This record gives sequence, C-alpha cells and structure tokens, in this order.
Amino acid sequence: MEYRIALLKGDGIGVEIIDSAVAVLERIGEKFGHSFRFTPYIIGGAAIDETGDPLPAETVKGCRASDSVLLGAVGGPKWDGLPGDKRPEKALLGIRKALGLYTNLRPAKLFPALKGASPLREDIVGAGFDIMIVRELTGGIYFGERGYRQGKLGEEAFDTEAYSVTEIERIGRAAFEIARKRGRRVTSIDKANVLETSRLWRKTMHSLAENYTDIEYRDMLVDNAAMQLVRDPKQFDVIVTSNMFGDILSDEASQITGSIGMLASASLGDGTRGMYEPIHGSAPDIAGQDKANPIATILSAAMMLRYSFGLSAEAAAIEKAVDIVLEAGFRTADIIGSSAAAAIGCREMTQRVVAALE
Ligand code: NAD
Repeated sequence: MEYRIALLKGDGIGVEIIDSAVAVLERIGEKFGHSFRFTPYIIGGAAIDETGDPLPAETVKGCRASDSVLLGAVGGPKWDGLPGDKRPEKALLGIRKALGLYTNLRPAKLFPALKGASPLREDIVGAGFDIMIVRELTGGIYFGERGYRQGKLGEEAFDTEAYSVTEIERIGRAAFEIARKRGRRVTSIDKANVLETSRLWRKTMHSLAENYTDIEYRDMLVDNAAMQLVRDPKQFDVIVTSNMFGDILSDEASQITGSIGMLASASLGDGTRGMYEPIHGSAPDIAGQDKANPIATILSAAMMLRYSFGLSAEAAAIEKAVDIVLEAGFRTADIIGSSAAAAIGCREMTQRVVAALE
C-alpha cells in the first residue's frame, strides 16, 4: 500500500529532524512492505523568505491532497520582528484550521531508561509512566467572545468559554477510541464545581461513557488533576479535557518526563488524515550543528502510523527501537542528566534507531 506524506520541514532544526523521521519511515517501509511517498512543502520562515507568506496556498493544497502531514518546527530570530499575523508561527494555527484538526494528542511518556531525567523522585515515577492527553483544540475560552468594557470599577476585560454538546461529544469519542488502543482508562478533567461549561462537559461525557462499557471512566477536577500528575502520574492512561485545561496540563505532563526533545504530538480531525509534530520549537540556538534530538519527531512519525494509517505493529516497532537505543545508554545533549561530552548527535541517534529496527 502507498501512503502519501506531506513533509513540512519548516525552520531551524526542523530540517534535520524531519530527515531523521524520513530515514526511519523508509526503513519501516522496506521491512514491512509499505511504500511512503514524501512530498516537501514550505512553511513558516522558509515560506516567508520564498513567497512572503508563512502558509502559501500551495502548501495547504499539498497537505489536503496527502494522507497525512509531518511537521518539523517553525520560527526563528530572523522573523521575530515581523507583525503577529505575518510571523512563521501564524502558519501553525492556519494549517490546523485548514485541515479541520480539533483533537490534539500529547503523549507524556517517561521511558524507563530516562527515570533519572524526570524532576520527580524515582519512587514516584516507578517503572515509568505513559499518559495520553487528549485536548480539545478549536473551541472553549481561546475562541470565545472577548473584549474590553467599562465596569463598576472602571475598565475591565473579559473572555468567555462556550462548548456545545457536539464539540464535547467529538473530542470525548476520540478519547474513548484512543483508550481502546491503549490501557482502556479515561479520566475526564473539568471544573464542574464552578463552571457551567464543565457541567455540560461532564454530563455529555457520562452519556458517552455508557456506550464504552469496556473503558474504565472517571471525572477529576482540574485543580486535583494538576496535583495528581506530580503525586502519582502512573494512575493516568488517557486524559481528556478542554482547550485551556489541556494547554496547561499537557505542559505540566511534558515537564515531568524531563526531556523536551522526546515528546511527540498529533492533531486529528474527522477523517484519518492528521498532522504530526514534535512539541518543541525550531531550536535556533542549535540549528545546523547536528545537536538536535530527533526522537520527538521519530515518535511523531510512529503516531502517524498508528493513528492515521492503522499500522500499530509498525508504530510499536519504532517505539521499541527508541527504547533499545536509550536502554543502551545513548543520549543527545538535551536529555537532562546526560553529559554533553558523551552525547551523540542527531545523525548518529537516527542511525542507531534505524539499526535498532532490525
Ligand atoms: P524551542 O523548543 O525551540 O527551544 C527551547 C530549548 O530547548 C532550546 O534551548 C533548544 O535548543 C532546546 N531544544 C528544543 N528542541 C530540541 C531538540 N529536539 N533537541 C535538542 N534540544 C532541543 O523553544 P524556543 O527557543 O522558545 O523557540 C524557538 C523558536 O521556535 C521560536 O521562533 C518559537 O516561536 C518557535 N516555536 C515553534 C513551535 C512549532 O513550530 N510548533 C513550537 C514552539 C516554539
């Protein structure tokens, strides 16, 4: 079977890490008998330099014509002086919107070999943890009515949160389906003791849960969730939550893994096409020096195989190869606790992961 993958390398280390993911996917293709057809499109600063637009129409068209999209990162000091709507980062919101991607998946996995890199004590992380945060991406307070007005105490600002049953149901369904491919447990996070939107969220989740009797379901208040993530992260499998709560909790969850260069993400919509990218940025401070950690992008490619193409065995093979390389003690310099002198570069890390696929 042939899969068409749009490559958006972007800026900075985006170029190096996408090349790494392509090398891994090519080896997976040979090993499992699939053919991946890669087509690069420009985005971000590179696109501004070439066309004046961070998200050219040609790029959107190419992504829409692909089975899935793999993105590196965008941005850098060269374009920092541009006005907000002309900056490279503007392309990220634009491409998510153009592809109708409303579900954001952010796994926070602590590999057992990297226990020492977590800021949490070893007795708390145990043998490691593996959490999938499912965040609603296109609704809630970030998209609600907002503004300034005169209040009793003078000028005030306001933001409003609105969620429809339809929006809650579609993100809820995504979370339950993902739980079926993992540990079959869902924690829905809200603030139902205070917020109306959270009360509707909870009611809708409860109705949905009745259709997923094979999944263990529970509610948790967001303040408690923030605490539980650092008290006992192993208790979580899939977390589903609103846009703002997901924004905050996914950053907290990523920090307890201790390594920004390891964290993958996916944005999904109604169909099987998704956009897959590392959570980190373009790291201009190390770009072009063969110092980038390619693992977040390699693991994003594994998510693409699992969630867009249904190739679970192939995805698991990539994750296992990463495990093998880390267990063997290889580290890039960003991984907390690794000594810079002993660190390997982006190219060697890639070669080692490819070799571990054998
Ligand atoms: P960053 O994530 O690029 O870098 C933060 C720090 O982490 C840097 O020291 C960097 O060297 C290091 N780092 C990040 N990824 C790494 C990797 N794979 N391997 C090794 N080290 C890594 O965040 P920043 O410095 O705040 O932003 C730099 C640029 O990236 C900005 O222009 C920002 O707007 C953009 N950005 C883009 C995205 C995206 O494309 N999705 C996300 C965040 C930031």
